[in-house]
Amino acid sequence: PVVLGIETSCDETAAAVVAGDGTILSSVVLSQLDDHAPYGGVVPEIAARAHLHHLDGLVRRALDQSGVGLDGLDGVAATAGPGLIGGVMVGVMTAKAICAVRGLPFIAVNHLEGHALTARLTEGVAFPYLLLLVSGGHCQLLAVEGVGRYRRLGTTIDDAVGEAFDKSAKLLGLGYPGGPLMEQAAQAARDPGRFDLPVPMKGRPDCDFSFSGLKTAVRRHAETLGGSPAPEDVADLAAAFHRAVGDSLVDRCGRAIGRFRALHPDGRALVVAGGVAANRYLRARLSALAADAGLDFVAPPLGLCTDNAAMIAWAGVERLRLGLTDPLDFAPRPRWPLDPTAAKAPFAGA
Ligand code: ATP
Ligand code: MG
Ligand code: FE
Repeated sequence: PVVLGIETSCDETAAAVVAGDGTILSSVVLSQLDDHAPYGGVVPEIAARAHLHHLDGLVRRALDQSGVGLDGLDGVAATAGPGLIGGVMVGVMTAKAICAVRGLPFIAVNHLEGHALTARLTEGVAFPYLLLLVSGGHCQLLAVEGVGRYRRLGTTIDDAVGEAFDKSAKLLGLGYPGGPLMEQAAQAARDPGRFDLPVPMKGRPDCDFSFSGLKTAVRRHAETLGGSPAPEDVADLAAAFHRAVGDSLVDRCGRAIGRFRALHPDGRALVVAGGVAANRYLRARLSALAADAGLDFVAPPLGLCTDNAAMIAWAGVERLRLGLTDPLDFAPRPRWPLDPTAAKAPFAGA
C-alpha cells in the first residue's frame, strides 16, 4: 500500500509518502527551530500555530513530489500522540479530513512506534529485536515483538537522554537543540580525558536510565569555568559528557541484551532509534557492544533518526497491511505508552 504520513507532535512539521516496499516516494520536513530558538526550547502554542500555518502546503508538496498524488494513496497516517496536544490535533484533523473526503482508511500512529519501526523501513529488520529508543522525550529499552507489540525492559527514572543533551548544551552556552551542537563541540576537544563525569546507573541490575545527575555534574563544572567558558573548555567538557552517556548506554544495553536473549533466543539485532541515534560517537559505541554480543547493529540513516513523516507513513503501511486502521473519531492521546503494562510502574514515562 501507498501511505501519506503526517508528523506534527513536536517542532517539526512533516509530510511523506511511502510505498509498501519501503520506497520513500517523498519526505519533506520543516523545522521550526528559528521560531523557538529565542526561548531556548519548544513553546507549545507557537508550535501549534506553526503546524497549522505550514501543514497544508507541506502535504501538497509531499503529494506532488511523490508522483502519485491523492489518487495513488491507499491510506493516511498521522501521529496521534504522544506529544504536544495542539500540534498533534492539527496533524490528526488534517489526516482525517483527507480520509473523509477521499474515502481512505485513517491510521492513528504512535510517534514512538514510528521511531521503533524505522529500522524495518530502511533495513528490513525482522521481529523480534532489541530497541534502544533515545529521543528528546524518551529513553527506553524495548523488546519489539511485532507491530503494536512492545515489551518495555527499562526506562529513564528522570530525564531523557536528548533532554540531557539539550540542557547541558544550554548550560554551556551552546544553544538549541543541544544534541548536534554538543556533538560538534566534542569533536573539537583537545584533551577529551580532562574532565571525569559520573556514569549514571552503571552496574545496576535493572535496565533503567537516569540523566539528571549527569546534567547537574555538567552544571557544577560549568560554574567552575565561569560565566562564559572558553571554547576549548566547552569542547573538553562536551567530550566528557559523551563518554559518560556512552558508558551508561553501553552498560544499560548490555544488561538488556541478557534479558532480551532470555525472552527471545532467536532475536538477532540491536536497533537504535530516535533523535539521539543520530550521534556518531554513540552509534560507534553501541555498534561495538552489539558486535561483542554477536548481534547485528542497526541504526537508521541520520535524517530518519530525528522527527520525520516517512517513519509515520511507514508505521501506517505496517498497520494497514494488518488491517489495523482507526475510526475518524479517534481521539489524540497526549500520553500514549508503547507498552501499556509497563506504564503502570512507578516511574511511568509516556
Ligand atoms: P520524542 O520522540 O521523545 O517525542 P522528539 O520527537 O522531540 O521527542 P526527536 O526529534 O526524536 O525527539 O529527537 C530530538 C532530540 O534528539 C533532541 O533532544 C536533540 O538534541 C537530540 N539530537 C538530535 N541530533 C543529535 C545528535 N547528533 N547527538 C545527540 N543528540 C541529538
Ligand atoms: Mg524536534
Ligand atoms: Fe521523536
